Amino acid sequence: MNSDFSRRNFLAAGLALPAANALPPLSLDAGPATDPKGLSYRVLGKTGLKVTTVGFGCMITSDPAVISRALDMGINYFDTARNYQNGNNERMVGSALGAKRKSIVLSSKTEADTKQGALDQLETSLKTLGTDYLDIWFLHAKDKPEGMSDELVAAQEIAKKQGKVRFIGVSTHRLPAMSGAVVKAGKMEVVLTAYNFTMTDPAMDASIAELQKAGVGVVAMKVMGGGMRTKPREGVPPSALKWALKNPGIATTIPSMTDADQLQQNFQVMSQAFSDADRKVLSARLEDIRPVYCRMCGRCDGKCPQGLPVSDVLRYLTYAEGYGQFPLGRERFLGLPGNLASVRCGECSACPIECPNGVRVPERLSRAQELFG
Ligand code: SF4
Ligand code: SF4
Repeated sequence: MNSDFSRRNFLAAGLALPAANALPPLSLDAGPATDPKGLSYRVLGKTGLKVTTVGFGCMITSDPAVISRALDMGINYFDTARNYQNGNNERMVGSALGAKRKSIVLSSKTEADTKQGALDQLETSLKTLGTDYLDIWFLHAKDKPEGMSDELVAAQEIAKKQGKVRFIGVSTHRLPAMSGAVVKAGKMEVVLTAYNFTMTDPAMDASIAELQKAGVGVVAMKVMGGGMRTKPREGVPPSALKWALKNPGIATTIPSMTDADQLQQNFQVMSQAFSDADRKVLSARLEDIRPVYCRMCGRCDGKCPQGLPVSDVLRYLTYAEGYGQFPLGRERFLGLPGNLASVRCGECSACPIECPNGVRVPERLSRAQELFG
C-alpha cells in the first residue's frame, strides 16, 4: 500500500454525480513487453532517446535516496525545473544522480521570459545540477502559443549550438491549444504535457497524435489526476499511470514520487496491462474528484470579471491538497500578477463561471483564497 497517499487527509466534501459521467470503456491491451529487470521503453520522437515508460518527476521529492533507488532499478528519465523548491530541487537531483548522470535522460525548465534571462537560468541549472549539459531544456508552463516567443526559442537554439542542451521543448497544461503551433513552428523536439484519465476530450488525444506524427516526443505529467481524493481509495495511482501509457503517443510519464512505496508501485506499472478493474477504479475516482479537480481544459479562460486565472489558482490548490505541497501552492498563489491574490470570491454576488466538468469553481477558489491569502 502506498503510505504517502493513504496518510493524506484530503477533502472532506464530495458531490455524488451521475454514473453517466463515468469513464467510457477503453480497449484493453496485452501488456507491455519488458526486459528482465521489468523495464519497458519507448522512443521519444525524433530525439531517438530510448526512455523508460515510467520516468521520475522530481518536483516534490526531497529524499535523494528515492532517486538513487530509481536509478538502481533502471528508470532512466528524470525531470526537474529551475524553480522547483526555489532551486533546491535541482541541487538535490544533481547530488542524487552523481556519476550516473550521463547514463540517464535529464530534463529541466526555465520560466524566464527573456532570452538573456533564460540563458542565465540555464547556467544556474547546469551549475546546480552539477552537469555540463541537459538532455532536454523546456520552456516552462506555456499554455498559449505566444508563450513560445521568438526570443525564448532563440535562447534554446543558442544553448543547443553551445552544446549545453541536446534537445529543446515546451511544457504545457493545455496541449490542444499548443500542439498546432508546435508542429507549425517545427522547433520543439519534445512536449511535456498534463495528461490523465480526467482528460477525455478527443482534442487531447488528437493533439498527441499530431505531435507523434510530426516526430515530436511527448512526455506526460500530472498523470495521477492531481492526487485529489474525497475518500480513501486504494489502487488509484497505478491505474492512472496505466491509463496514460495506453496511449502509444506517450513516450514516458513523470509521476511525482516522494517515497520508496510510490516508486515500487509505479515501477511495476511498466509490466502491467490496463485492465477492466483499472477502468472501474478510474471511473469511480473520476466521480469522486469531479467537484474538486480542475482538468485545465481552459473553457473558463477569461470568464472571471475580476480577472482571476481560474485554472491556475485551482492548480495551486491541487499542489497543496493533492500533492501535500502547501508551500508550493502558496508561493504560486502569492506570485499572481497585480492584486489578484487579494480578490475574494466570497464578495461576489454571483459568479458567471459554470464549469462543464463539474468543478465547484467559486467554492474551490474561496478555499484557495482562505488557505493561501
Ligand atoms: S474550472 Fe472547469 S472549465 Fe475551468 S479549466 Fe478547470 S475544468 Fe476547465
Ligand atoms: S466568484 Fe470568483 S471566479 Fe466567480 S466572478 Fe467572482 S471572483 Fe471571479
